[in-house]
Amino acid sequence: MSERLYGEEIRRLAEIIRTAGRTVVLTGAGISTASGIPDFRGPAGFWKSEEIVKLLSLETLYNKPEVFYSKSITLLSGMRDKKPNQAHLGVARLEEMGLVKAVITQNIDGLHLHAGSRNVYEIHGNLREAHCQVCYSRYPFEFLLEEAAFGRIPPRCRECGGVVRPDVVFFDDPMPQEFYLAYEEAENADLMLVIGSSLQVYPAAYLPGLVKKLAIVNAEPTPYDERAEVVIHGRAEVVIPKLVREIESLTRRDEANDAKGEGAGAT
Ligand code: NAD
Repeated sequence: MSERLYGEEIRRLAEIIRTAGRTVVLTGAGISTASGIPDFRGPAGFWKSEEIVKLLSLETLYNKPEVFYSKSITLLSGMRDKKPNQAHLGVARLEEMGLVKAVITQNIDGLHLHAGSRNVYEIHGNLREAHCQVCYSRYPFEFLLEEAAFGRIPPRCRECGGVVRPDVVFFDDPMPQEFYLAYEEAENADLMLVIGSSLQVYPAAYLPGLVKKLAIVNAEPTPYDERAEVVIHGRAEVVIPKLVREIESLTRRDEANDAKGEGAGAT
């Protein structure tokens, strides 16, 4: 794709977002690769490693707690010290400008909140908390690390003795309440901007189907590309800051024109 066309696509996307009404953003693992967290299905994704897929599974959590609370927890914990990149910051800026109403993320890395986004739906959970599988008592994620470090595996609930697990939604886990709230956000949206998702993981991948208009920024094609008003096959950390700059410049132009108009009326 030529540089010129890329610029045109960003201008079109900027106009669509400025005129859309209610815009929600749906993000996937691709928005965080520039922060040093591999995605799932991209060329260097976790999915390519059978070992990692097994580590992040209910089978390991339930049947091999000694593996889960050493290797899997270490793998998950490694995502917690990462920093938001320009794409996360750009999404937060769009919310600050009043152009994005909500961010629905499949990511568990917490980077949208770190970047300053406020209305965030973490539909696959997070790495801040844990819960007892029996009585649902809440614990900080650190509780799992501390218990594991002392060899207390699996970590047990102080209230009822049940097993405490991270607030992460693994394959075959039921979807949390947050997903149903995100579903409502999608139903009420005029535009969904998808960033860095293969749109192959269900039920999250149903969400773009609920929205009137769709725009996609992803490194590779997705099954929804044909339905989208704009598709940009590019890196989120490059495209999103450019998009924000374009929107800011259009907004400044409009403000200057408004000021001129008011000035003209006054004379
Ligand atoms: P996915 O891995 O299925 O798809 C990621 C997409 O992003 C791919 O199509 C890839 O080409 C694209 N991509 C990679 N780097 C990009 C970049 N810099 N800019 C733009 N696009 C880029 O991810 P998914 O759709 O989110 O589904 C994977 C599942 O795995 C989700 O459930 C997610 O919760 C989980 N996961 C989360 C994290 C995280 O929290 N950061 C990381 C890996 C996996």
